[in-house]
Amino acid sequence: MIKVEGLTKYYGDFLAVDGISFEVNKGEIVGLLGPNGAGKTTTLRILTGYLLPSSGSVKIKDYDIYKDLRDIKKIIGYLPETTPLYNEMLVYDYLWFVADSKEIEEGKRLSELKRVAEICQIKNVMHKPVIELSKGYKQRVGLAAALLGDPDILILDEPTSGLDPNQIVEIREIIKEIGKEKTVLFSTHILSEAEATCDRLVIIHKGKIVADGKTEELKKGGDQFMVNIEIENTDEEMALSELKKVKGVENVELKGKNGTLKLELSGKTDFRKNLYLHIKSKDWVLLEMARASETLEEIFKKLTRE
Ligand code: ATP
Repeated sequence: MIKVEGLTKYYGDFLAVDGISFEVNKGEIVGLLGPNGAGKTTTLRILTGYLLPSSGSVKIKDYDIYKDLRDIKKIIGYLPETTPLYNEMLVYDYLWFVADSKEIEEGKRLSELKRVAEICQIKNVMHKPVIELSKGYKQRVGLAAALLGDPDILILDEPTSGLDPNQIVEIREIIKEIGKEKTVLFSTHILSEAEATCDRLVIIHKGKIVADGKTEELKKGGDQFMVNIEIENTDEEMALSELKKVKGVENVELKGKNGTLKLELSGKTDFRKNLYLHIKSKDWVLLEMARASETLEEIFKKLTRE
């Protein structure tokens, strides 16, 4: 659906997007993740035809960003970082205006407005002026505008930015619902949101892609092999010093003690067998051993470190 190759964007001398390549397949919800200034908005603005790249290629379906901008704009619904809503307009009039600018036939506009109002749950505010809406509702109106014309692809720039936790959940649910039928690419800083909503994550830092994969794969791809264990009634000092001797274990951290010891062990290789044999040789009672993975936060921090 979306194929980006070697995409580069300079603002003057400043390199904002540095030769990135990625694909978004039909029906996927992909999160573009990265810290402030990583190049997310720039990338999304290029994909939606609002900014020209310095070099590289972008194909949306079979359309080329350099030649087929008009067609591309028709198959993409775009929610920019700041939705260009007109405060004094009624929601209904605003959506009518957007439908008109998207060249949706007049006879079909009303049913199209009803359709997007249903999806975004804004039927109750259709006759209110935009200025009276809460931020969450404004964002829903922006989403509804992006959905007008039933585009195959939705590109959303930080759709939940500035919303309260309840509004975030509501918008996330709408995105998930939309994602059942459409291809969605959206940017966010919020890791939990990306994790909860996306099939796949592309992490970008200083204009470069530093990771691309399914959330679970990214977690597994963290360079630490981690195991949590719980052992019974063992002396803490001795347990720590003994466990550090296990081949492959680089770090041992005490996570809790309450009659038992809970410990997290990490290293670069799979040390579970060595660990088990060592515990057995000490005759400790092993209550639990479970493979752990780095949290997305930890991986994100590592990947986007200065
Ligand atoms: P944020 O999460 O803060 O919105 P972002 O990942 O969307 O950040 P971009 O807005 O794409 O990042 O910006 C990438 C870099 O390009 C930043 O360093 C930014 O300051 C710079 N930049 C963006 N737009 C322009 C512009 N019009 N002129 C010059 N530099 C720009």
